[in-house]
Amino acid sequence: MKIILEIEHFINRQAILLKNRITGDKKGIAVKSVEFGGNRCFCNCQGILAIRLIFPILIEISPQEIASDNKSDYNYGRQYSDQHRHQLSVDILSRKIKLLRDNAKVKSDMEFKYPPVRRKSRAVRVGGVIIGGGFPISIQSMTTSDTRDAESTVDQIRRLTEAGCDIIRVAVPDDEAASKLAEIKSKISIPLVADIHFKYKLALEAIRQGVDKIRINPGNIGDDWKVAEVTRAAKDAGIPIRVGVNSGSLPKDILKRFGHDNPEGFVAAALRQIEILENNDFRDIVVALKSSNVSTAFWAHILMTEKVEYPFHLGITEAGTRQTGSIKSAVGLGALLLNGIGDTIRVSLAADPVEEIRVAKAILKSLELKKEGVDVIACPTCGRCQIDAIRLAEAIEEKTRDFKTPLKVAVMGCVVNGPGEAAAADVGITGGDGVGLLFKKGKTISKIPEDRLEEVLLDEIKKMTGGK
Ligand code: SF4
Repeated sequence: MKIILEIEHFINRQAILLKNRITGDKKGIAVKSVEFGGNRCFCNCQGILAIRLIFPILIEISPQEIASDNKSDYNYGRQYSDQHRHQLSVDILSRKIKLLRDNAKVKSDMEFKYPPVRRKSRAVRVGGVIIGGGFPISIQSMTTSDTRDAESTVDQIRRLTEAGCDIIRVAVPDDEAASKLAEIKSKISIPLVADIHFKYKLALEAIRQGVDKIRINPGNIGDDWKVAEVTRAAKDAGIPIRVGVNSGSLPKDILKRFGHDNPEGFVAAALRQIEILENNDFRDIVVALKSSNVSTAFWAHILMTEKVEYPFHLGITEAGTRQTGSIKSAVGLGALLLNGIGDTIRVSLAADPVEEIRVAKAILKSLELKKEGVDVIACPTCGRCQIDAIRLAEAIEEKTRDFKTPLKVAVMGCVVNGPGEAAAADVGITGGDGVGLLFKKGKTISKIPEDRLEEVLLDEIKKMTGGK
């Protein structure tokens, strides 16, 4: 394994000493940089010298470590000269890097497991849905209606439920919105989550109204006693709390230390929130690490798996419009889900939230994590294609989009790959010269003129699914 050290700040003699020491051995580690955190200089001695390895691993030493390494008390610069401390810090860092290098000798670059093992997470109940604990991955969305308008909100939730939404979140910006939660909940059939920022009283009211989960940022709720009141109320009501970070809510000190798109910053911010809840003896927690940067989101989750056992709510925040947002979400969520990480998902799109559900379902179906609905296998077509296979595939997909019965349908342009693919599907069409062959469970059923292909295939699908 080759470890590359990335230097962001290279400011004094200490860094040069360190670089010379660790680059002296070229066997395992290439040094690119050294980063100074905290006060960035040991001369003031409250800082932390850190080396960031691109993988990412962070090796840190603190003034206290330097003190204990010298087996003596350390009192911030009064006891030792700067030079002495520089030397000690370089010694400690060199030892840590040697350890890493030794470990690296027995490890390969990356470790992938096949078949993938799903990450073990704590089971957290949200109304009738369980998140984590190996339970099926649920799909969430958030309403775009004004929560104060209970009727429109209920209408939208019903549409989302019909599309396959398992858990719905609504914004609760004020008292009036909070006061409508019980009414909304009484008219819907899926768990209701209240999204609250800043005002602990809104969280208490949402819990009183009977929501199934609240989403808060304990860091912006305010005084400790306010967080304590919210956690106590949630515990008494038996409901979980979702915490976590997204790109726009990283605390200032974390932003200063890690920057915007650093997965370690996301992990540090989330752990801070979790700690606040744990200090209140609250453990029914769901964690979200939502970056708008796919790579940051991916690595933040990978790093977080080593820190907590709470279930993960996956999402790429501010992913974008229907097309770009779907692609970003598919890449980010797909990479994590393929590695067995993720317990509930939300695709965030600047679009009708029903689209979020369709995309989320498509992601889960493509990974075979959900067996539901019609899966249209379609060839891309080429110069051999003798029917309008693209139009046919699109029409079938559109007209069966909300079916729930699992069914594989093939639309193939010609006989080259057509019969093979169609045979693997439950039902399908292979194009010929102005005609199509209808296949069912590997057997040719009939020859159909091109202008009747859509109608006949749709009829067959409806017969096999009962039209739903
Ligand atoms: S199935 Fe036929 S038409 Fe479709 S891509 Fe393959 S060769 Fe081309």
